[in-house]
Amino acid sequence: MKQTWRQHAACRGIEPDIFYPLDEDDDGEEAKQVCLACPVRQACLEHALISRETEGVWGGASERERRRMLRHRRRSA
Ligand code: SF4
Repeated sequence: MKQTWRQHAACRGIEPDIFYPLDEDDDGEEAKQVCLACPVRQACLEHALISRETEGVWGGASERERRRMLRHRRRSA
């Protein structure tokens, strides 16, 4: 499926490393600031949740935060 939302991503052309912090203490705050102003944030987050992206910041959420969201969804299902 073509992901047209990617064309509108606020992170296009931005240094991708900030979305994949190597330091465990770095929760990707710099990347999350970019996501805050992104017009396709919700679509990006849904993509990451559905495809179980295990690394990086997607839709303004770190991997840890996405795991929490998935747990919450499972409990409310
Ligand atoms: S929400 Fe963040 S990671 Fe997703 S497309 Fe937008 S800027 Fe990129």
